[in-house]
Amino acid sequence: MKDVDNIAVSQSLIKSLFEYKEDKACGIQFYKQYFEGMLFPSSPVQKLGQWFEYMATGALPKDQLVPLPDKTSKNELTEAYKKMTKQLENWERLKKKYQIKILTKGRKITVYDKSLVPNPIDGTTDLEVELTDYQTGIHYPYVMGDIKTTGLLDNKFDDRGWEIGNLGNKVKLVMQPIHYKFIRMIETETDEEPPFMFFLFSNTNGVDHRIIKFNLDTEANIQQHRVLIQNTVKELHYQLKKGFKPLPEVSRCSKCPLKDNCEFFIDVPLIQEFNYNEI
Ligand code: SF4
Repeated sequence: MKDVDNIAVSQSLIKSLFEYKEDKACGIQFYKQYFEGMLFPSSPVQKLGQWFEYMATGALPKDQLVPLPDKTSKNELTEAYKKMTKQLENWERLKKKYQIKILTKGRKITVYDKSLVPNPIDGTTDLEVELTDYQTGIHYPYVMGDIKTTGLLDNKFDDRGWEIGNLGNKVKLVMQPIHYKFIRMIETETDEEPPFMFFLFSNTNGVDHRIIKFNLDTEANIQQHRVLIQNTVKELHYQLKKGFKPLPEVSRCSKCPLKDNCEFFIDVPLIQEFNYNEI
């Protein structure tokens, strides 16, 4: 088991801790993942995204295994993967148009800021690229890039929805660019905000794809992020002392790699209470 101070503060840890506190994630899984370093299997949607990213850039997922596509009994790609082959063509066209030159892929950045927390603070960038905006002619010698496949490009309300007018309300989505900009600024010892772009590809059709350049109100956002990192570490200490609690649910437990030895595993739902108050 890792000591709290040795746990790397990543954006995925911050997000998972949010979810745990919102009673949307199981504490046993959280503990195993972050305190014991266990790798959890990817969902089918995550696998599709990993395969796309591997085909687009050659980057391997966390487990370092080459992602393989799902195939039918006739050895053809399933519909979901066929759509993504169209998106691979879109990525190639986009790369050409923006003269994208890949500088690094899957680079892990680990930094320290002892004035903040003793922990390492890290993040793995999908891509670091050089590109030129063909519309404005602006040349970006360095951009942090993140490739995402999603079925929620126009979704306003889901907390993973990408509709640009509501993006500011999506705490879990905006945390990633803020975190990555933050660690890059520590790494390069500069106050200058590095450009960050999301490259978004629909996984529900083979056409829709977008680029969002994520800009900050640098000082205020970075200051908030510093506080968030401090609070995350304090919360880890607090939750560890209290003990991470299980959150069994039939669907969650059915896919859980810990289920064979977990005393909290259920395959029959628990009764949930609902108190109706007439207004
Ligand atoms: S089996 Fe269920 S309760 Fe146990 S760790 Fe997995 S998700 Fe949590």
